[in-house]
Amino acid sequence: MKKILITGGAGFIGSHLCDLLLEKGDEVICVDNFFTGQKNNILHLLNNHRFELIRHDITWPLYLEVDQIYHLASPAAPIHYQKDPVQTTKTNVLGAINMLGMAKRLDVPILLASTSEIYGDPKEHPQKESYWGNVNCIGPRSCYDEGKRCAETLFMDYWRQNKVRIKIIRIFNTYGPKMALNDGRVVSNFIIQALQNKPITIYGKGSQTRSFCYVDDLVKGIYKMMNTGNRVTGPVNLGNPNEFTILQLAKQIIKLTNSKSKIVFKSLPQDDPKQRRPNINLAKQILNWKPEIELKEGLEKAIPYFQRELR
Ligand code: NAD
Ligand code: UDP
Repeated sequence: MKKILITGGAGFIGSHLCDLLLEKGDEVICVDNFFTGQKNNILHLLNNHRFELIRHDITWPLYLEVDQIYHLASPAAPIHYQKDPVQTTKTNVLGAINMLGMAKRLDVPILLASTSEIYGDPKEHPQKESYWGNVNCIGPRSCYDEGKRCAETLFMDYWRQNKVRIKIIRIFNTYGPKMALNDGRVVSNFIIQALQNKPITIYGKGSQTRSFCYVDDLVKGIYKMMNTGNRVTGPVNLGNPNEFTILQLAKQIIKLTNSKSKIVFKSLPQDDPKQRRPNINLAKQILNWKPEIELKEGLEKAIPYFQRELR
């Protein structure tokens, strides 16, 4: 049995990862400051003797004894990470330094949940890991994009300088049950609006694209990445390569929820990427991983969660 630390374990993806690791028979320590995470996401685990919850802000040092570290703590939705941009940068930079320090002291593997946002508004499409990105370093998304880019730099330097066993994954838009209802992300927004027969708010013309991965597929990929050989550091893209316009997503959700909602068009936020789609050849090759759940099936699994939460 391994003792595994998950930072951000009470968040959307982190809580699914807690479930998966406990199912595998490991011991899980979840560290979270509940900035965007929810107790509800892990409530069912609190009586499990292999699960432990610590409220802690990872911008401050933390001393634990563990065998592996999954480092996920960071707000991820634009409205969340823009609420306190300085704290977002601190979480990504100081948080990475603190967690890498722990990995170095204990000589244990550490995985970073990085993001497709490090590609910015990409000029290369689909995005391969070798692409350096097109990121504005002074805009409203920079606290997150540059914070994650700096976290990747720190991970690579701890590997080169200190031989810390690092793993970097770049996660593309992921959705599913346990997303926070107020996170303003496109899938949660549209499903909630459709279920309430309220206007579906498309920013811009809806021609911008995203590629949506169902959370169960993603956490399997995260687990595989942690458990590959030490030489595989990444970065590795994890996401679903099927690309949709935001307008297509809105229409699909209206159909699946039998909604009476009308579509309304609002202004596009600054620096909103026009297109995003992962090239996942590397993940296929070195992890033997690809997503299995396509958008329609994933939305059909996610919609009942939002229905329950809205009751
Ligand atoms: P989330 O907001 O649901 O989860 C993040 C968790 O981190 C929350 O529980 C939050 O309370 C916690 N946290 C934030 N700052 C903290 C701090 N200083 N100390 C301790 N805990 C802190 O977001 P998510 O969608 O589950 O994302 C998890 C990770 O995956 C993030 O690192 C995010 O950047 C990355 N990611 C997510 C997506 C996606 O589509 N969901 C895409 C790319 C990358
Ligand atoms: N979006 C939208 N309406 C909404 C929420 C988001 O049209 O109510 C758009 C947003 O402008 C972006 C895309 O959907 O082009 C994905 O946004 P999200 O915040 O989910 O993720 P990110 O931009 O970080 O990929």
